[in-house]
Formats: sequence, structure tokens, C-alpha cells
Amino acid sequence: MSKIKKKIKTIKVDLDKCNGCRACEVICSAYHANPKYSSNNPARSRIRMIRDPMRDVYVPVYAGEYTAAECMGRDKYIIDGKEYDECGFCRAACPSRDAFKEPDSGLPLKCDMCEDEETPLCVKWCLNEALIYEEREEEVDEEVKHEDVEIGLKAMVNKYGLQNVIDTVTRMSQKS
Ligand code: SF4
Ligand code: SF4
Repeated sequence: MSKIKKKIKTIKVDLDKCNGCRACEVICSAYHANPKYSSNNPARSRIRMIRDPMRDVYVPVYAGEYTAAECMGRDKYIIDGKEYDECGFCRAACPSRDAFKEPDSGLPLKCDMCEDEETPLCVKWCLNEALIYEEREEEVDEEVKHEDVEIGLKAMVNKYGLQNVIDTVTRMSQKS
């Protein structure tokens, strides 16, 4: 298998600096609106604030992979004596909860590092510098490039059925 260079993008989260302002959710949902910036609905954000001001809890969690089957178990964290909600830190869009799902269609959401933006917008909008962007290059197998497309297609097939997806793609290719 041939290797290609891939830019690895990382966002470090400094929990001590996050004050739960939710600016990251606002800009993420606006950037991913269709058309861009036409609406602002944090339910469409690919970053979610676990927020409980009474207990001084503010934890940004990024949307990760979609999974068609929910886990057999559940996790729950206690950090510095504060107990967090069940599955609170899980990054997956999964059948057991609404987190990281597009509210209208139910399709899974995944952080895409703001596609072609030089710096992810949630990082730019975090005035407290709780989100720190870094990038480096790594050699990876060429197939990794197709991973995101496959995840999206699998989710659509699960939701709408294979034939509907094929029919839609066929219709789209005839228009273009
Ligand atoms: S990097 Fe971009 S897509 Fe990911 S959570 Fe931040 S604003 Fe949203
Ligand atoms: S913008 Fe920064 S400080 Fe505000 S909630 Fe998001 S991570 Fe926390």
C-alpha cells in the first residue's frame, strides 16, 4: 500500500481556561449552516459544551466518529470530586442519544476542523484561549483519505436505505 503525507490537525483543550461561554458552539453551527452563516443553532455544532455552572463544570467535547451500534456499557467520570453525566465525554454520534446529530435529518455530525480554513473557527472565537490549534505532517496509508466519505455514506444507508442513497446519487450525477 502506498504512503502519502497527511496533515494531522490537533486541538488541545485547556479545561482550566474554559468559562463555558459557548462561543465555540455558536461559530461552529453558523459556519456549517447551509448557506454558510445563514443561521446559528448550537444543536448543529460539532463541538458540545458539557456545562454545569452550579458545579463549575465546563468541558468542550468534539464530535468524533459515527457508530451504528451503541456500546454494551456506559462510562461516567469523576474528576476533582465532580461527577459528570453518563457518556458525557464520548465523542461518538450513536443511537443511544441525540448528541452530535443534525437536529432535522438525524444524520451524524463530525468535527471536520473547518475544512479549508487555516485555523479552526472555534479556536479563533475562543477568547479565553482554552482551545489551542497545532498541526504536523505524518505518513499514512493512501486509503485513509476516503474514510470520512465512507462514514457519511454508511450513516445515510443506515438511515435511508441503500436503494434510496443509490437513487439520490444517480439523480445528482445526472444533473451535474
Ligand atoms: S474545528 Fe471547526 S468543525 Fe470542528 S468543532 Fe471547531 S468550529 Fe466546529
Ligand atoms: S469558546 Fe472557549 S471558553 Fe468559550 S465555551 Fe468554547 S472552549 Fe470554553
